[in-house]
Order: sequence, then structure tokens, then C-alpha cells
Amino acid sequence: MSETIKIGVSACVLGEKVRYDGSHERDLYLTETLAKYVEFIPFCPEIACGMSVPREKVRQIDCGGKIKLIGQDSGEDWSDRMDRWCTKVLPGLESEKLSGFVFRSRSPSCALRQSTIFSTTGKPPKKGPGFFASRAIKMFPLFPVEASERLHNPLLRENFIRRVFVFSRWQRLESKGKKIGELVDFHNRHKMIIRSHDLRGYRQLGKLFGESSVFNNEEIFDAYSSLLFKSLSLKATPKKNAEVLKHALRFIQKDLPKDDSSELLGMINAYKSGRIPLLVPITIINHYARKLDQSYLRQQYFLNPHPSELKLLNHV
Ligand code: SF4
Repeated sequence: MSETIKIGVSACVLGEKVRYDGSHERDLYLTETLAKYVEFIPFCPEIACGMSVPREKVRQIDCGGKIKLIGQDSGEDWSDRMDRWCTKVLPGLESEKLSGFVFRSRSPSCALRQSTIFSTTGKPPKKGPGFFASRAIKMFPLFPVEASERLHNPLLRENFIRRVFVFSRWQRLESKGKKIGELVDFHNRHKMIIRSHDLRGYRQLGKLFGESSVFNNEEIFDAYSSLLFKSLSLKATPKKNAEVLKHALRFIQKDLPKDDSSELLGMINAYKSGRIPLLVPITIINHYARKLDQSYLRQQYFLNPHPSELKLLNHV
């Protein structure tokens, strides 16, 4: 990967002591492992909009349909200050070329989904995104985003990092100018990844190229990216990955001795049922793709989605 991949992260998750009580919530996976392969851009919206450490807790309150960020004891309204900071900072993140966000779970400012939103009308509290996160998601709807706690789940972690790497390659593609030939090449290399998330979306993306004479390049790129990242936001499960591995097997099956082919199919089924990690059938398919010089498989990012040192394919 020639260019550094940048991910925006809630600062307390990186170990910065910015929480209301002066503590942090350092996440060891992010700081000890992933940090070797990506650059983190920390942000703490509460500090950035003028809150101090230590400080009173804030919470989100639904005031007749408008959600406000309010000090828990003082009732101080931070909404406008946080909004002003969001308006100032969020557009600038475009030029930072971030390829994703990790938001600290359950925070009234940063949570992706699980912030408690209280009501002034006596209705029971509901759950929703934090004050800052809701604005970031609105401004960057295609961005890979994940909650810090969910990254402890190996399947969700692999899904997120896979999307971040795809997004980074997409950014590089766009930066070269919007050329249809380059887009076709990008699509060809990501075919198996897209299939592993969303087969229907994969088919819709393929149809877009048939319409390339109707739309200009800008429109094709916009339509492609919306569909692509919508598809990738669906989870790639062992069942879907196994279907893609079987699809890969069809490209090499005719050149393999029957026993080897059956053994590989057995491995794919063992992976699907949770007995071996994804790494095993992927390693074998990579081996045969190289040995047989199978050009379609050799170019597939699905078989090399991110640096192997991250060990994201090793879990069962
Ligand atoms: S506002 Fe976000 S970054 Fe700051 S302490 Fe709260 S969760 Fe952490």
C-alpha cells in the first residue's frame, strides 16, 4: 500500500485522557496492531467545542423533535457550539482523505448508534447516534464507519477493515481522474469482494457499465460509488464468503486433480461451518491461482484484502 490510510478515531479510544472524568478508553487492538498499518486522526468533539477536563457529563435530549446536547447537572446547552465546530471541521475532513471512522460506543457525542436520547415529554428514552457522529455520518454517507466496541468481534472487525481498504483504493482511483477504463479495472479486481457482501448489488453494479453510453463519467462514478458502498455495508458472512470461494474454485477446478479439488471443496465447507479460518481456503486458492497463473483470481482483492500481518482472516 503506497499511500498511508487515514482513519478518524474518537481520541479517548486512542488513549487520550479527554473523557469527562479525565480517563481514557484505550483500545489495544487499534493502538497496538492496526496503528502499524494506518494513521489515526484523533478527534474529541467535546473538547474541541470548548468543554474542559474534568467536566460534567452531557446527554442528548429530544426537545420537540430537535435533539440537543445538554449538561446533565447544569442544563447548559452545548448544541450550538458543537454544531458550529462540526460545520467548521467536517468539510475539512474531505481534504484529509480519511478512509473511515471509528466512533467510541455509547457516547452522547461520538456513539454510532447506541447513545441514549432522553425526551422532555416523558416518553421513554430511545437509542440513536451521538450528536457529532450523526452529523459526520450525514456528511460522509459512504464512509466505512464502526463503533469501537464492535471491533472486538473478529467478523465485524474484518468487515470494517476490508471496507476501509476498498475505500482507500476508491479514493486513489478518483484522484486519478474519472476514467471509465480505470473504473472497469477497479470493478474487475473487486468482483469477489463485492459478491461476498451483496450478490444483488454486485449484479446491479455490472449493469451500470451497460449504461455508460447514456451517462457521463461523473454520473457513472457517482452511481457506482453509492451502490458499491451500500453493498459493502452489508456484512460478509461465512456463508456468503463460502459461496465466493466456491465461485473461485470453478476457475481452477478443471486444471486440478479430482482429489485436490474435492479437498479444497471440503475446506470451504469446513470454513463455512466454523471449523477452520477463512485463511485456510484462501491460502490454497491463492497457491493454485499462482501455480496455474489464473489471471482472474490473481487480481482479486478478496484473496488479499488487507496486510496479512493484521491476521484478520485467522479467526473461526
Ligand atoms: S467526545 Fe468522543 S472522543 Fe471525546 S471523550 Fe467523548 S467519546 Fe471520547
